[in-house]
Amino acid sequence: MTTGLVTAPVCLAHDTGPGHPERPERVSAALERLEVSGLMADVESVVPAAAPIEAIARLHPREHLEELERVIASGARSVNEPDMGISTSSWEAALSSSGAALLAADRVVAGEWQNALCLVRPPGHHAEATQAMGFCLINHAAIAAKHLQETHGLERVAILDFDVHHGNGTQHLLEDDPSVFFTSLHQWPLYPGTGAADERGIGDGLFATLNVPLSAGSDDSVYLTALEDLVLPAVESFEPDALILSAGFDAHERDPLGGMNVTTEGYAAMTRLFRDVAEKTCGGKIISLLEGGYDLEGLSASVEAHTAALLA
Ligand SMILES: [Zn+2]
Repeated sequence: MTTGLVTAPVCLAHDTGPGHPERPERVSAALERLEVSGLMADVESVVPAAAPIEAIARLHPREHLEELERVIASGARSVNEPDMGISTSSWEAALSSSGAALLAADRVVAGEWQNALCLVRPPGHHAEATQAMGFCLINHAAIAAKHLQETHGLERVAILDFDVHHGNGTQHLLEDDPSVFFTSLHQWPLYPGTGAADERGIGDGLFATLNVPLSAGSDDSVYLTALEDLVLPAVESFEPDALILSAGFDAHERDPLGGMNVTTEGYAAMTRLFRDVAEKTCGGKIISLLEGGYDLEGLSASVEAHTAALLA
C-alpha cells in the first residue's frame, strides 16, 4: 500500500485576488517540490471528481450552498467578508477539494492506500455551516468525517487540526457529535478568536473537543510536547477508526500570517507521531487535507517533509 496524492487542476484556477496570501502558487509550488524531490514518483496521484452535493449538504444547508454558488457565478470578487476572495472557478474548486477528501477517504478505507494527502484549495477548516470565512468556502474535513461514517460505516473519526489558526468551522459543525473527536493546536490569541481550552464540546459531544491553545513563538519542542502529553493520548483513548488531519503549515517559522517557530523537520517529526497514533488505533488510516501555509518555501518544504513521513 502506498500514499495517495489527490489534487485537481481547478484548484489552481480559484483566484482570490491580487496580493492575496491564499494563492494558487501554494499548491503549484508544493507539487513542484514533490517532483523535484522525487517523492512524486513514490505516491499515486489521482484527480478527484467534484463532491456530490448530498455529501456536502450533510454539514451545510442546501440554501446556503445554492447562495454561495449563485454569488460565485455572478462574478463577485468576494463573499461574506473582503478577505474571502473568489472568482468564477471557486465553486468548482471548492467542490473538487471536498471531492478530493471523499476520494482519499474511499481509497484509504478500501485499503488501496495506506494514507493520503489532498493538496487542494480553497481550504476548509474555517467554513461554518452557513458562513464562508477565513479563505474557506466549505468544510472538507467535516464533510470527509461524515462521509466515512455514513457512506463507509465507520463508527468514530478523529480530526486533528494543526493549522496555526483554530479550526472554528470544524469544531462548530461537529461539537455536539460524540462520534467525531476534534482536536486543534493553534496560536492563541489569533484569528478567528475561538479555540479556548475550555471549549470541550456541547451536549452529547461534551469532551469530544480538545483545544490546545499555544503562545506565539512556540517551537518544535512545544508542539511535540503538546502532542505527546495531551493531544495524542486523547486521540488514542478515543480509538478512532480513521484519522483526518487538517494540515495547515502556517505555524512554520517562515510563515507571514502565523507567529510560531515550527521548522520543516518539526513537521516531519509531528507527522511521524500522527502515523504512530494512527497505527495504534486504526490501522494507520490517515486522510490529510491541506489547510493554510502562506510562505511558499516554508509550505513546500513542509509538504515534502509531511509526504515523506506519510510514505515512510
Ligand atoms: Zn491557518
